[in-house]
Amino acid sequence: MKPDIKALEQKVTAVLANTEYQDHPLYEVLNDLWQYNQGQWSRMEHMIRLSDSYQDMILQREKTLGERFDKHLRQLEKITRISDRYQTALREANLELEQASYADALTGLPNRRKMLRRLKTEFELCPEGIFIAMIDIDHFKNINDQYGHLIGDDVLVSVGNLIEHTVGDLGHISRWGGEEFLVIFSQAEQNDVEQCLQNLVKTISAERFSNGEDYVIRTTISIGVSHFESDDSIDSLITRADSALYKAKNSGRNRVVAG
Ligand code: GH3
Ligand code: MG
Ligand code: MG
Repeated sequence: MKPDIKALEQKVTAVLANTEYQDHPLYEVLNDLWQYNQGQWSRMEHMIRLSDSYQDMILQREKTLGERFDKHLRQLEKITRISDRYQTALREANLELEQASYADALTGLPNRRKMLRRLKTEFELCPEGIFIAMIDIDHFKNINDQYGHLIGDDVLVSVGNLIEHTVGDLGHISRWGGEEFLVIFSQAEQNDVEQCLQNLVKTISAERFSNGEDYVIRTTISIGVSHFESDDSIDSLITRADSALYKAKNSGRNRVVAG
């Protein structure tokens, strides 16, 4: 049976409060026991209060830590989002920069850098199939002298567009520099290349370059073409196309010469 502590305490305090029992031999013993018991109780209450406040402190600490963790997590997520956006913008900027570095500013055609990369790739893949055509506008200086550099620019752009359009899918054009274009044919038949180049010469010479108001200009192009031979490198292919172009110039221009 569980003792009724409350009732027991009431009984003891009643006995100790009664002056009739003060001379009883057990009174002092009971009183000492009672005082000892009270001391134990107050120590126990003190311990419980300590333990409660310690638990409160731990809970508060956990809450604070949780809040700080959540805050850091949100900050981290924000930084990650910013970093992702920044990286995407950086990638796009790089891509634009790369594209710009491979395009000729005046004509918008692939530039020499881009063509050299293409040549390298094509040469590694299948050198035997490569034809290189070096195309130069004839007496272009006269156009600049007669009409001015800006109209010269317009003619240069139009000649480039016309070459690109006429070559179509058979080859790839680039502005090699000045008034020169390099076209690479990588997997074409010799007959198709020859016909395409003759067609180019004819098309340019037949064209009337005009802005519709101030001028009508006619011009021609000369072409030197080389086809891969054993022991050729990219350099030697280009050099042979250049020499063939030189021959085309010296033999009257407005023609194709193979080298
Ligand atoms: P050839 O038939 O021997 O090639 O004669 P050419 O006059 O075409 O050759 P030349 O090398 O004497 O002159 C080329 C000219 O092309 C000179 C240069 O000012 C001009 N040129 C080069 N690049 C540009 C350009 O971007 N715009 C303009 N308008 N002219 C250019
Ligand atoms: Mg020229
Ligand atoms: Mg030239």
